[in-house]
Amino acid sequence: MINGKTKLFAIIGNPVSHSLSPAMHNAAFAELGMNCAYVPITATNIKETVAGLRHLGFGGASVTVPFKEEVIPWIEDVDPKAVTIGAVNTLVFDHESQGVPARCRGYNTDWIGSNRALYQAIDLHGATALVLGAGGAAKAVAYGLVHSGTVVTLANRTMEKAVTLASELQCAAISFDQLPTHSADILINTTTVGMSPHSDRSPIPAELLPHFRVVMDIVYAPLETRLLREAKSSGCKVIDGLDMLLYQGAEQFSLWTGTEAPVTVMRKALERALDIH
Ligand code: NAP
Repeated sequence: MINGKTKLFAIIGNPVSHSLSPAMHNAAFAELGMNCAYVPITATNIKETVAGLRHLGFGGASVTVPFKEEVIPWIEDVDPKAVTIGAVNTLVFDHESQGVPARCRGYNTDWIGSNRALYQAIDLHGATALVLGAGGAAKAVAYGLVHSGTVVTLANRTMEKAVTLASELQCAAISFDQLPTHSADILINTTTVGMSPHSDRSPIPAELLPHFRVVMDIVYAPLETRLLREAKSSGCKVIDGLDMLLYQGAEQFSLWTGTEAPVTVMRKALERALDIH
C-alpha cells in the first residue's frame, strides 16, 4: 500500500518499458515488508532527471541505456570502480536533513552481478576467460574478471574496440579468426547475438564449445539461448543472463536499504516478468 511514508526508487533510461527491474525490486520490498516502491521513468534529459529525483526525495535509482556514461558528471561522489569502468548503473541519494537537496553517490553493480553469477560455477582467481564483445556490458564483465584475478582475453567483431578495451584493462585481445585455436576455463557472451527475435543465432560455432568448462550468456531473452543449449550439449556448466541481472540488482538493493536482498524471491519475480515480456 502506497502512503505518505512510501520511499521511492526508480529505473531511469530510454526506453524502460521493457525493463524487468521493477518486478524484481518491488518483489524484494514486498517480501521484506518495506514501505518502498520502484517505478520506471522514461528520461529525455539526464541532468534534469537526476535533479528531479534529488529534489523529489527519491532514495535511489537504477540507470540504464543510454545514460550509464552520460550520468557521471551529475553525481557528486562516483565510486572509483565505476570511474574505471566509465559507467554508473546505480544512484544513491543521501537525504541528510529536511529542506536540503540530497547528495548523490554513483556505483557500478554490473561487474559485481557478473562475478557473483560466475562464482556459482567456478573460482575466478587464477582462472582463464574469453569474453566475446567489447560494448558497455563487456567493459563491466571484463573489469570484474580482471579485478578477481582472472586472466582475460577479449574478442570482438570490430577488432579495434577489443584492442582499446584490452589496453584499458591490461588484458589480451584476439580476432574472431583466432577463436578456433583459443581455449579457456570460462566463455562469456556479452554481444547481442542470440537475442530475441534472432534467437536462432549463436556468437561462436558449436564445435568450439568443448574448449570451455563454464559458459555464461548475459543475453536473457530468450533465457536459454542457442549458445547455452549447445554449451550444455557439449558438457559445459551454463549460467543464464538472469543471474547477472539478479545479482547486480541484489547489490543495488543492499546499497539502497542496507539490507541483504532476498535473491530467491527476486529471481522468481524476474522469471515471471520474462514470461509476460
Ligand atoms: P552494446 O554496447 O551495444 O555492445 C554490443 C556488442 O555486441 C558489441 O561488442 C558488438 O560488436 C556486438 N555485436 C552486435 N551485433 C553483432 C554481430 N552480428 N556479430 C558479432 N558481434 C555483434 O550492448 P551492451 O549494452 O554491451 O549489451 C550487450 C548485451 O548484453 C545485450 O543483449 C544486453 O541486453 C545484455 N546485457 C545483459 C545484462 C544482464 O544483466 N544480464 C546487463 C547488460 C547488458 P561491434 O563492436 O563489432 O559492433
